[in-house]
Amino acid sequence: MSSTRYEVRASTAVITMDHPPVNGLGAALRSGLVDALDRALADPAVTAIVLAGNARAFSGGADVKEFGTPQAAAEPRLPVVISALEDSSKPVVAAIAGICMGGGLELALGAHYRVTRADAQIALPEVKLGLLPGAGGTQRLPRLIGLEAALNMIVSGATVPASRLKDTALFDEVVDGDPVDAAVALAARVVADKLPLKRARDLKVRDPQAEAFVQFARNTVGAMAKNLPAPLKCVEAVAWSLNKPFDDALRMERESFIALMHTPESRAMRHVFAAERAAGKIAGLPEGTPLRTVAKVGVIGAGTMGGGITMNFLNAGISVVLLEMKQEALDKGLGTIRRNYENSAKKGKLTAQQVEDRMALVTPTLTYDAFKDVDLVIEAVFENMDVKEQVFRTLDEVCKPGAILASNTSYLNIDRIAAFTKRPSDVLGLHFFSPANVMKLLEIVRGAQTAPDVLATSMALAKKIKKVAVVSGVCDGFIGNRMLARYGAAASGLINAGALPQQIDGALQQFGLAMGPFRMGDLAGLDIGWATRKRKAAEAGVEMKPVVADKLCEAGRFGQKTGAGWYRYEAGHREPIPDAVTEALIADYRAANGITPRKIGDAEIVERCIYALVNEGARILAEGIAARASDIDIVYLNGYGFPAVRGGPMLYADMVGLPNVVRALRRFAAEPGADASWQPAPLLVELAQAGKSFN
Ligand code: NAD
Repeated sequence: MSSTRYEVRASTAVITMDHPPVNGLGAALRSGLVDALDRALADPAVTAIVLAGNARAFSGGADVKEFGTPQAAAEPRLPVVISALEDSSKPVVAAIAGICMGGGLELALGAHYRVTRADAQIALPEVKLGLLPGAGGTQRLPRLIGLEAALNMIVSGATVPASRLKDTALFDEVVDGDPVDAAVALAARVVADKLPLKRARDLKVRDPQAEAFVQFARNTVGAMAKNLPAPLKCVEAVAWSLNKPFDDALRMERESFIALMHTPESRAMRHVFAAERAAGKIAGLPEGTPLRTVAKVGVIGAGTMGGGITMNFLNAGISVVLLEMKQEALDKGLGTIRRNYENSAKKGKLTAQQVEDRMALVTPTLTYDAFKDVDLVIEAVFENMDVKEQVFRTLDEVCKPGAILASNTSYLNIDRIAAFTKRPSDVLGLHFFSPANVMKLLEIVRGAQTAPDVLATSMALAKKIKKVAVVSGVCDGFIGNRMLARYGAAASGLINAGALPQQIDGALQQFGLAMGPFRMGDLAGLDIGWATRKRKAAEAGVEMKPVVADKLCEAGRFGQKTGAGWYRYEAGHREPIPDAVTEALIADYRAANGITPRKIGDAEIVERCIYALVNEGARILAEGIAARASDIDIVYLNGYGFPAVRGGPMLYADMVGLPNVVRALRRFAAEPGADASWQPAPLLVELAQAGKSFN
């Protein structure tokens, strides 16, 4: 199948890129373009050429499917295609509509004239993948729109509507109708009036303040980009447009592009980009699975989670019935929602009218009557199976057939919850993260009987409320919290062995985590884990052996909400202050357990905590709880503050090298009294031995 179409209108050849969905510039399209160009040049009846895409996309740039494959580097490479256009002896006019980004924009920059629809979306977003535009974008764009504007676009990667660039040399015509018709007309005029073949490369960057602006950009970008190499490289490359011969600058730009391609930061950012797309593909869920309509949602529980969950739907214009047990709790929950919106209004993010419009979409209730016609219910009541049972039995009685029944449980078994109803295929987990109106992640927990259309509807809904969804199987804590339990255990093991909370948090924050485990514990409340440990001991019929965290709770230290936990907090402040009381409790614990504290380095802290995540991740993968390693990465990046430049725990393990991870785990497992969970997961060992990686 050809990826270009070719037709001649009057004496103009129209080459149309035809590679759905967004005309990604894969090898087939690149060679198709060159062939079509050669055909037009060879045809004496053709006097000009129009290069077009479709209404949705001129071109979205590189073909993501080719990333990391030999096709990405196959000839003709993109710079060759662009030079071929630029050097064409017949005028080339690009006709732009829809998205025109990355390599797609660089391609258009090779044309002699450009006609665009006003609403076309223009960007060079390579920096968001840890790269710079590598096919002349850093040299041609400043020549056409000026140094400052080009630097801003290239360093931010931001998308700009074409209309905003209408007064620059980038566009010869900005139209509201079909850009192809306009481009064909312009091409005819260029031929008739013998207008010159304008090549961007022949222009000079005109800007009297250029050098000063570049220096300013170096300073600000250097400070803002922290450890990311790409933004500064973008500045340097654009600076070459001022004083380097064009071809030298192109070569240097290409070299920088290739060097950045090999940085761990870019690898991680490209991984995340691909991982987010992969997470949407679900086994046993054919594309085009019919969706159920979700126009009205019921939320049960107006506490920490119920309130935040409700806001997601109000923000998307979906009405919500919010149920509580007591008027007081209902008022409190609604008050929190309103306060959140009013705070956004104070910051100028919402108008007063928008606050009212959103509040008008929520109907508070104390009875289930209002649940008769809801399309989806999300339960966010106490984390207790008896309470969940009572709620789901009631829902089964009152909800209409076809309503989706979801639980926001953090740990409990969705299949057991589903079994409280006579419609287990309508039940699944929709696990939001706190604060639910802010955190991007949604774990969608697929029960043994969850129907495909229930899953598909939930995935689509996640998109609508702007969440990143990952599907998890059923297990204690699902993907994220099950791994977090191992991470927490590794951190508390380090405390026992000789480290202090501030050292562990410091080491992990230095690694890039938004918050170390002890600060996070203080924020979430230590009483939750305490209650869970008590419950689990009771369920197992064993006597609980208190750990340091239990001792803190026994002393009334639940974290920020009580002014002290692992750290202490000044009234009204959230800044954690290391506390001698905690240190004394830790020392007592070590003494009581006959532990002589040892000195522990930051590298060991990171190894133990992160490899604990990786090891449990490997088990989750082997059990099929997660469909792919990259799904686990998405969970950690969007729900647990894992640093994007590390690409998630599983990609991090790949980058460290799985044999190295296995060796470290074996070392930890061999220590006297080590927990069995340090044994490397069979899948991890298998991959390491085969020289393979997770991704
Ligand atoms: P919460 O205590 O803040 O809120 C629970 C609310 O449910 C309370 O307002 C309570 O009055 C109400 N409620 C209890 N039983 C009810 C019933 N039968 N009918 C109607 N309302 C009832 O708890 P939360 O932190 O919002 O947690 C709710 C659920 O979300 C739990 O399953 C929890 O595991 C899960 N979760 C919590 C977090 C978190 O960080 N807090 C994160 C993800 C998931």
